[in-house]
Amino acid sequence: MRSDAVVVGGGVVGLAVAMRLARGGRSVVLLERHPSFGREASSRNSEVVHAGIYYPTGSLKATFSVAGNRSLYAWCAANGVEARRLGKFIVAVSADEDAVLDDIHRRGHANGVTALRRATLDELREAEPLVRAVGALYSPDTGIVDSHGFMRSLADAAADDDAVLAWGHEYLAAEPTPRGYRVRFRDPAGADGEVQAGVVVNAAGLAADQVAGGMGLDIDALGYRLRYVKGSYLRLADSWRGRIRHLVYPVPHAGLAGLGTHVTIDLSGGIRLGPDVEFLPDRRLDYSVDPGRTERFVEGARRYLPSVAAEELHPDLAGIRARRILPDPAVSPDFVIAEESARGLPGWVNLIGIESPGLTSALEIADRVAALAGGPGRHAA
Ligand SMILES: Cc1cc2nc3c(=O)[nH]c(=O)nc-3n(C[C@H](O)[C@H](O)[C@H](O)COP(=O)(O)OP(=O)(O)OC[C@H]3O[C@@H](n4cnc5c(N)ncnc54)[C@H](O)[C@@H]3O)c2cc1C
Repeated sequence: MRSDAVVVGGGVVGLAVAMRLARGGRSVVLLERHPSFGREASSRNSEVVHAGIYYPTGSLKATFSVAGNRSLYAWCAANGVEARRLGKFIVAVSADEDAVLDDIHRRGHANGVTALRRATLDELREAEPLVRAVGALYSPDTGIVDSHGFMRSLADAAADDDAVLAWGHEYLAAEPTPRGYRVRFRDPAGADGEVQAGVVVNAAGLAADQVAGGMGLDIDALGYRLRYVKGSYLRLADSWRGRIRHLVYPVPHAGLAGLGTHVTIDLSGGIRLGPDVEFLPDRRLDYSVDPGRTERFVEGARRYLPSVAAEELHPDLAGIRARRILPDPAVSPDFVIAEESARGLPGWVNLIGIESPGLTSALEIADRVAALAGGPGRHAA
């Protein structure tokens, strides 16, 4: 079999890339080891459409999140995918935290999140009477999206442009050939097959470092090696539905690997706390949620939501982040989007460390990949 491009991985990023390359006129084969799309990080997340507030200015995370916020809402509107601009409060509970809000405000504006503003305490009380704080920022463009519907729409769009979406097909290895790569895979019946392609996009999420390493790249020297960081969620009892209407985040503390115990709302109005941050000792995909973590969630949430009680919280889902290991742990790892010609692999594109805001950024990542792979234009909603 021959194809212009092979995409390894059918999460939201691989699907967006497949859609984008297929719309650009390329023949595309997408290999996904699970029986359908989005069975890993892409269906185990907060479904938040981020605005791009916290990430270091100039980073891919900041740039793609700001642009992706717009392009994702536009895609959803054009393709019948549910998304809601709920708005988000970031709340400070002490004078020290209030000072940090100023830093976050400045950084947000530097990143291009111009709608981010200080909210008055009256405004916060009016919007979220159960929240206690001494200061707040408001981000009107932060919202939520039906991640499954988004992925379905990407898969449909890719298939409409004749991409072959090969569910249940596991990528095994690839070797360079004079015209690209011979990519080996195993099909759902256990038979091995091959596809020849000029472009290979490694969108394998939690396995992306292994896929890159398999091509002979030194993943430690390149900062591609991943560490698995689990995030668990707890669900608030149904009696809480409608009692919180915006996303509510605490001020993130320096050194904390996540954004602190925050409140997210799903499209059905259900309310969750999380995700927390748990560095896993190995690469097992363990999605169980330990009820023993409840006390810590309650402690975190009660700082700004004093009426939360432990008995109202129930284990919900967990997801695992693909976090790059960098020599300096104080450096916040950015996405890697690398066409590897300089390392002897022309046409090979690695996507490494696509943790949050990867859902928000998927369409932008796909545009960047298409440009690196020599494709024309931008995605059209
Ligand atoms: C707890 C948590 C909360 C998050 N919250 C948000 C949020 O609110 N907003 C936001 O924007 N982002 C969020 N993210 C980040 C977002 O979920 C990810 O960035 C995004 O889903 C990454 O998509 P992906 O396609 O790269 O990876 P994945 O969805 O993990 O897809 C990778 C795919 O590759 C496949 N694969 C791997 N190896 C092979 C192989 N050998 N052969 C075939 N297929 C293979 C896997 O089966 C998988 O389906 C969150 C992530 C987590 C974990």
